[in-house]
Amino acid sequence: MKAGAWILGAIAVLAALGAGAYLFRGEIATVLVERAAREGVRATLPQELPDGLHAVFCGTGSPLPDRQRAGPCFAVIAGERVFLFDTGEGSAETLALMGISLGDVEAVYLTHLHSDHFDGLAAVALQHWAMATATEPLTVVGPVGVSRVAAGLNEAYAIDAEYRREHHGPAIMPPTGGGLFAQDFVVPTEDGQTIVLRDDDGLRILAFRVDHAPTDAVGYRIEYAGRTIVISGDTSYSHSLALAAQGADLLVHEAISPRLDRIMHDATHDAGRENVSQIFTDILDYHTTPEDAGRVATEAQVGALAITHFLPQTPIPGLASTFVRDARRTYDGPVYAMRDGDVILLPRAGGMSRRNTLRF
Ligand SMILES: [Zn+2]
Ligand SMILES: [Zn+2]
Repeated sequence: MKAGAWILGAIAVLAALGAGAYLFRGEIATVLVERAAREGVRATLPQELPDGLHAVFCGTGSPLPDRQRAGPCFAVIAGERVFLFDTGEGSAETLALMGISLGDVEAVYLTHLHSDHFDGLAAVALQHWAMATATEPLTVVGPVGVSRVAAGLNEAYAIDAEYRREHHGPAIMPPTGGGLFAQDFVVPTEDGQTIVLRDDDGLRILAFRVDHAPTDAVGYRIEYAGRTIVISGDTSYSHSLALAAQGADLLVHEAISPRLDRIMHDATHDAGRENVSQIFTDILDYHTTPEDAGRVATEAQVGALAITHFLPQTPIPGLASTFVRDARRTYDGPVYAMRDGDVILLPRAGGMSRRNTLRF
């Protein structure tokens, strides 16, 4: 047989295989998903990580639309305990895709009461109830006003809760378990002053004021296994944050790019959308430039800086790297532009590494 005939034969075989794979693609996908599902439900992320304090990025976006980023959501895994810090739109979905069961969440801490930081909270509470067969509501801790938010969400979801109790029965959805239980605290007034909100089993969670007027806003300092993570919440450049973050292994900081913000301002202004362009002007004064985030990291002498809550949105690959470049002008340590699904590991044994854990 000539070489040409061999090639034609090989092409015909490959085409037949390709056609077969196409015809049976649904069946092949079903077999693959069966294997993935069995692996997925066997172990959750907290069980897979080494003992330590780990930073979980379950939403790195802002209120501006971005298909790649859920609304503001951050979590820590301390040992195998899970705590959430802000629960913006899409938090529950992203956490589930990362292999974190909402049933494992012990409490939610809110940095402030801008709605984009809690508009995924009801979904988190519902999943917590269903996944854990919870017999108590999910605790949500935040600045004064959080109990009003929780009462409103509980009322809004009361009819849904009734349906689910009726449909699944009390063994799956215990009547005492749905909704939210709120704990308010008064935001400290002095720069760098911290209040201890949790101190148990070697874990401490502290709150301190930041600058996000007119809201009462806080950042949090989380300490476990000799490791420390500090999150900024929403803030302009904050001296209070620099004081409270002293010596942390990791500073998680929000950021706004004035240059990108100006592009959005001009585009909306030129399109005659004056109200939107005014918002792009207004938000500059209560968020932090990447350079100032780097300045805080330098003042606090932290081990690394992780940028999240990107303003404005970063829909084009490479755009987030401009935030990192700008922060490096004022901070010599490692700077990371975080993505949804990222985890920064701080093992008890020391060191720091980063990995993305989005599954499916
Ligand atoms: Zn925000
Ligand atoms: Zn805010």
